[in-house]
Amino acid sequence: MKVTNPANGKLIQELKDDTLSSVEAKYQAARRAQGAWAARPLSERQACIEKFKQGVIRDTEKLARIMTDETGKPISQSRNELKGLIGRLDFFIESTAKVLKPEVVLDDPAQKLKETITLEPLGVIANISAWNYPWFVGSNVYVPALLTGNTVIYKPSEFATLTGLEMGRLLHEAGVPSDAFSVLVGGGEVGQALLKQKIDGVFFTGSYATGKKISEAVGGRMIRVQMELGGKDPVYIADDVVNGAGVKAVAEGTADGAFYNNGQSCCAVERIYVHEKIYDEYVSHFVKTVEGFVSGDPADDKTYLSVLTRSQQIAVLEDQIADAVAKGAKIALGGKRKGPNGGTTIEPTVVLNVNSSMKLMQEESFGPMIGIQKVRDDAEALSLMNDSEYGLTAGIFCTDRTRGKNLLEGVHAGSAYWNCCDRVSPRLPWAGRGHSGVGATLSTYGILAFVQTKGWHERG
Ligand code: NDP
Repeated sequence: MKVTNPANGKLIQELKDDTLSSVEAKYQAARRAQGAWAARPLSERQACIEKFKQGVIRDTEKLARIMTDETGKPISQSRNELKGLIGRLDFFIESTAKVLKPEVVLDDPAQKLKETITLEPLGVIANISAWNYPWFVGSNVYVPALLTGNTVIYKPSEFATLTGLEMGRLLHEAGVPSDAFSVLVGGGEVGQALLKQKIDGVFFTGSYATGKKISEAVGGRMIRVQMELGGKDPVYIADDVVNGAGVKAVAEGTADGAFYNNGQSCCAVERIYVHEKIYDEYVSHFVKTVEGFVSGDPADDKTYLSVLTRSQQIAVLEDQIADAVAKGAKIALGGKRKGPNGGTTIEPTVVLNVNSSMKLMQEESFGPMIGIQKVRDDAEALSLMNDSEYGLTAGIFCTDRTRGKNLLEGVHAGSAYWNCCDRVSPRLPWAGRGHSGVGATLSTYGILAFVQTKGWHERG
């Protein structure tokens, strides 16, 4: 595998891909290691993750540089991801004991009957992951999986392989046995080779298209399958924001939600609906904000927008623009590819006069591009927000909390945002609906995902 820097096309490193036989060997090793790993006291597994955390803190700058070099993520945003990781690790370290505690549900001396629920690890977990927030989405899976006594085979995206190998290095340095957590090098075919093993669960983060293929590949095997997939996340800006945060602040906040990480976030704002009373003012502030974003070299501290990790995505974005324009949309900003060698990204793009018939308002863009649509009222906004196969997050910006709550109760999404967007909390479940996935990571639900119940019926 050739790892290249998407900003300048330079080769960073060449790596040897895993093969079917090396994947098999890693699987066998993970299987053998699982019992001993699960038998260690939880406190020892917690201590390993704590040491892993200290390693991340110590090496933050180096890890941020590696991530920026191979993904093109602006360096300040790479540092933010690594800083944000610490709170997630703390959450998992603190919460696992509480979740794993056996629960006595009946203890009846008269019947001489005791009933207890205990939780056991699933076994060997396949963790196939994405490149856009590799530390977040990887650790959402392998950290609770390891804490609950599973062993993990981690298949990072080929676009974040060096980062994946760093995760392995730090976990092993922290005391996790090399067979309890192993990293695979390679593309989709290596992921397929992993799925051929007798794994006990597949935890996938990536696109709906790949998630569907994986679900179909393992469908009949009766193993735990969890999917964290893409989104087409809407926000609605109601007219009463003028009485609260104000239109300008909301435009700035939502522009950041749409363009942060070059728009390559699963929960990036991907569709904006604005009440007609404030539409013109909102669009004017929004466009000014986007014009002010500093574009440049991802390695530069000042850069906010850099390059797309996968330049193939430029063609997807261009197709969405062409489709929208053909159906009557108007480009308010951007719209053209930029950068050397045929383009490394697309200009930050704002599209108006959009509607639900356009790919731009239906299919995940996953780039620095947004469509903004004017709506008459709350009812129209809600109906358009739900007009999607996806259901990851949805946000309402309004000053009246009751109005916001009523609308959010009606959205078909796993996360509901009132006056915020593009936000993830370790304490709340991260769960998609529809094409955005099945199951939850993070929160106590994201720990329970890695265990299976055993019901004890004890008489005597
Ligand atoms: P992909 O679906 O392209 O790839 C995800 C992973 O699957 C990669 O490791 C990939 O390998 C691997 N893979 C590809 N084909 C197969 C196969 N047939 N069998 C097994 N594994 C396979 O997604 P991206 O990496 O491009 O990530 C972007 C997507 O992830 C977006 O849709 C985004 O919204 C979503 N995402 C969702 C999140 C959530 O929490 N809901 C969080 C982050 C991202 P390789 O890349 O090496 O080919």
